[in-house]
Amino acid sequence: MLAVQAIPILSDNYAWLLRDAATGAVAIVDPAEAGPVAAAIDAAGGRLDLILLTHHHADHVAGTDTIRDRYGARVVGAAADAHRLPRLDRAVAEGDRVALGGSEALVLETPGHTRGHIAYVFADPAVLLCGDTLFSLGCGRLFEGTAAEMFSSLRKFDTLPDDTQVCCGHEYTESNARFARHADPDNAALAAYAEGVRARRAAGQATVPSRLADERACNPFLRAPDVATLANLRARKDRF
Ligand code: ZN
Ligand code: FE
Repeated sequence: MLAVQAIPILSDNYAWLLRDAATGAVAIVDPAEAGPVAAAIDAAGGRLDLILLTHHHADHVAGTDTIRDRYGARVVGAAADAHRLPRLDRAVAEGDRVALGGSEALVLETPGHTRGHIAYVFADPAVLLCGDTLFSLGCGRLFEGTAAEMFSSLRKFDTLPDDTQVCCGHEYTESNARFARHADPDNAALAAYAEGVRARRAAGQATVPSRLADERACNPFLRAPDVATLANLRARKDRF
């Protein structure tokens, strides 16, 4: 059993604190800002076993060495990007498994936003740490990869169960909802979901983790049926 907590950092990023209930083992995903991440770790008991990195951008990794030095945690990241990530204690690739106490994450390679982007999937409960590949109601910009790569990365997420908690790297949902409504104006589920997002943001609440079922029903990028549709959506969103 895994408990998940969003830690707001920087202007609109989230680091994620994961705690395995059976053993008390703790992991942090993408600790880009050491202060609030350390505060969250200390509030959870001061233990840190693992730092899991999704990709090399500074707004995901900048606090890694500070947090590692303070807690002595092991750092896990993509073998493909080891040359531009903080020093890794374990370099992983597609299909590798990473233990956190009694829980276990499966590593998925999800290029598109960056070449070496990876995601972590836990099964009990279903939790997806997807960095800047999938956002609630959106997807990451194609900085280094192609629309075809992003499409196949999103297809990997589409095999996960409906109740998967989608833990992404940014609070972009409200602005993503504006584009999604523009791109898919007749989607009633999206209209209702976007209204809930607006209300949560107005109340100062996080909109993530979202449920994969809602992303399947509402997220135009996850719903894109083919590469050309996804490429067109991504290009329009870049100019929106
Ligand atoms: Zn990024
Ligand atoms: Fe980012």
